[in-house]
Amino acid sequence: MANGGPVEHGFPHLETVREAVTALYRRLSYDTVRTFSASVAPVDVAFCDTDDLYLGTQRVARELVRHYRLPDARMIVSFREMTHAANVELTAGPEYFVELNDRFRTHRRDIGAALAHEVMHVYLHRLDLAFPGTRANEILTDTATTYLGAGWLLLDAYREDAASSQKLGYLTPEEFGYVLAKRALLFGEDPSVWFTSPQAYTAYGRGLARARRDGQQPPLTAAGWAGRRRYARDRRHAQDAGARGAAADGVPYAFTAGAPGQLRVAFDCPTCHQRIGVPVRGRVRARCGLCRTVLECDT
Ligand SMILES: [Zn+2]
Ligand SMILES: [Zn+2]
Repeated sequence: MANGGPVEHGFPHLETVREAVTALYRRLSYDTVRTFSASVAPVDVAFCDTDDLYLGTQRVARELVRHYRLPDARMIVSFREMTHAANVELTAGPEYFVELNDRFRTHRRDIGAALAHEVMHVYLHRLDLAFPGTRANEILTDTATTYLGAGWLLLDAYREDAASSQKLGYLTPEEFGYVLAKRALLFGEDPSVWFTSPQAYTAYGRGLARARRDGQQPPLTAAGWAGRRRYARDRRHAQDAGARGAAADGVPYAFTAGAPGQLRVAFDCPTCHQRIGVPVRGRVRARCGLCRTVLECDT
C-alpha cells in the first residue's frame, strides 16, 4: 500500500476500476457479492490511541478476516519503519504476515483502513484473482475492498488541512467515492453517515454523482435529453451505413449488425460494466446475466 506524495484527484483510473468490478462479479458470482450486503461496522473497527496497540490491532484484523469470510486465515501484524504504508506477504497461509508502517503506532484510528486493504490482498490471493502489473492489481484491491464493504475506511482515512494531507490506497478520493456509491446504490446503503473526515464526505458526493451518471446513459430510459438526441442521430447513421463503422468515438454505446436488417446496440451494464447487447427495436427490457440488473432501454 502506497504512502505519501501529493493527493491525486478526479477519475484517472476509472477504466481499471470498472474492469475490477466486472472481474469481481465474474469470479465471485452475483450470489456471493450479495452476501456482502452489510459493510464493516464502525464500532467493530474503532481503535483509539488509548487502546493497547497489539491487542487492538489483532482485534481489528480478526474483524476484517471475519468480514471477508476467511475462516482459517490468521493475520500476524507487526510494525516497522518502512516507506510504504503497509505490506502483506502472500503465502499459502493460514498465517499471513502483515507489516504496518511505524507511524500507525500513533495514528491508530487508521489501522482499520490499512488492514482492510492488506486483508483484501489475502482474499484476492486465495481467489486467485489478480490484474497484471502492480498498479492495476492495487486498483483491483482497493476496488474490491470498497465494493465488498470495507473501503469506506480507506476513504475516511483521507484528510487534508492547511498543514498536512493524508490518503491511503491507490484510488483517488473521488474514485473511492465512486465505488462506494456503486455499492450504496446496489445495497441501498448510506455510508456518508460513517465519515469522520469532511474531505471524505465531499469526495463521496463527487463519486456518487459520477456513479449515478452510469445509469443515465443511452440507450437506458433514464438518459437525459441531450444524450437521447445524440443517440437518435448515431442510430440513424448506423441504419444508413448498415452498421458498418457505426461505433462513434466517445459515446458509451456501439451499433452492430445483427440478423439481416436488424441493428443491435451494445453498451456497458451500469452496475457491473459487463458489455450488454440488445436489438434496436424501441422499448426493450433486458436483464444483465452477470449482476442481474434489470435494464430499461429505449433503443
Ligand atoms: Zn496493496
Ligand atoms: Zn451487470
